Amino acid sequence: MGRPALFIRLSGCNLNCEGCDTDLKPSLDLSVLELLKRIEGQGKRVIITGGEPTLQMNELVDLICRLYSRGMEIHIESNGTNTIPLDILEKICCAVVSPKRGSDFNLGFWANKSNVHLKFVLGKPDWCWNEKELKQLIPILDRERVWIMAYGTDQGMQNASEAWDLALKLGTNYSDRLHIRLKRS
Ligand code: SF4
Repeated sequence: MGRPALFIRLSGCNLNCEGCDTDLKPSLDLSVLELLKRIEGQGKRVIITGGEPTLQMNELVDLICRLYSRGMEIHIESNGTNTIPLDILEKICCAVVSPKRGSDFNLGFWANKSNVHLKFVLGKPDWCWNEKELKQLIPILDRERVWIMAYGTDQGMQNASEAWDLALKLGTNYSDRLHIRLKRS
């Protein structure tokens, strides 16, 4: 967070979280080669996000291989409901997986891998987690790579201190929502 990066946002998601802050409709229809041409010379760090990027798995694998061969630092964000091939995951600097409560996320695959960080959103909507659930889940995870973030769509982030307190209590990291705090109206 806070480091400049190029974002590639792949459209579409297999979940439908209340209050999702992403426009899930496609805006551009590009082949992988067209996309690469468009981003040429725009920095070395790239974050592939969505929606849910793994829904376009063939294109995603092709994209990661081509970015990797160009020496790019690759990051990916996912809701964790799908896995990705291990040889592709190895090419990724950092995967941020945010399992949604009640979804069929694949914790067995994503948990405790050295380049995977798990992010849990604390809050009231159905897909968010609560303290009791996180207290049960977190002891089986490597806390060094677990982050707790508050749900919130307003710049004041009223619930941030609750997430901070819980992160301290459970020995995890706290994640802010910089994209919300700095949002321009
Ligand atoms: S998983 Fe993420 S992108 Fe998909 S609906 Fe939920 S918040 Fe939105």
